[in-house]
Amino acid sequence: MDKLEETKQLLKKYKIRANKSLGQNFLIDGNVIEQIITGSDISKEDLVIEIGPGLGTLTNELIQRAKKVIAIELDPKMITILQDRFSKEENFEIIFQDVLTCDLQQILKQEQEKTNYSSIKVVANLPYYITTPIMMKLLEEKLPLASITVMIQKEVAERLIAIPGTKNAGAITYSIYYYAKSGKILEVPNSCFIPEPEVTSEVIQLQIREKPAVKTKDPKVMFSIIKSAFMQRRKTLVNALVNTKVFINKEEAMKIFNQLGIEEKARAEEIPMETYAKMADLILS
Ligand code: SAM
Repeated sequence: MDKLEETKQLLKKYKIRANKSLGQNFLIDGNVIEQIITGSDISKEDLVIEIGPGLGTLTNELIQRAKKVIAIELDPKMITILQDRFSKEENFEIIFQDVLTCDLQQILKQEQEKTNYSSIKVVANLPYYITTPIMMKLLEEKLPLASITVMIQKEVAERLIAIPGTKNAGAITYSIYYYAKSGKILEVPNSCFIPEPEVTSEVIQLQIREKPAVKTKDPKVMFSIIKSAFMQRRKTLVNALVNTKVFINKEEAMKIFNQLGIEEKARAEEIPMETYAKMADLILS
């Protein structure tokens, strides 16, 4: 049975209407699912964490290809369907929680005691309304992940995987780059979902770095400078950093800019991450 027919039947059988406020757009394209699976490079040795399994369309494939799948879903209606579909599968576990508040460290620690896997990979068609907090949680909690392969809104994807120091970069670009190497896997048109989302989607992959991309005395200080720099991205960097009180005045800012070789007219997105790291170190010294 094709994925569209399967999805329609599941929605009918369980009397379900997609819940927009939970970002429910169900994938109905077998080709896209195959490309996500291939792109995520999962094997029978991997533990896969799926966020928002929904009706289980992607889950079904993940269960066939991975050593174990742990799926985290918030909607109780989906939990019933997933239990009916997969409770007989020994390598599947469902966690009925909000991904943003669940204790991922603890979940992975418990799993490590039960299953002998080689690496942990996140694979998901994310609920778009919470893309950034989910990504930041996965990265900042320093979980032992090998990679994160996710479908997200195209505009957001392009911001996340931009190269720091280029025009598409935003504050989030630097956060992603600090923790991971990133790239695009494929673009996915609206017609591959029901209901159709209002935006084009993109699957991206983050390969988690063994060591952060730059060295700095206190990453929190560096990220707070980056955040301030992008708060007023239409202004020059020097004005943005004075207005947000990173520097007391332009004179103090220009002293550090001169040491770092930053021009007075430079803008936040033109600055490579290494330079923000050095700026943080100079401010702290
Ligand atoms: N994986 C399915 C697919 O590809 O067809 C569904 C993806 S749908 C875009 C997003 C899923 O995330 C929905 O099942 C939704 O209920 C779930 N979800 C929304 N908010 C969540 C949260 N805070 N924690 C866990 N799951 C959530």
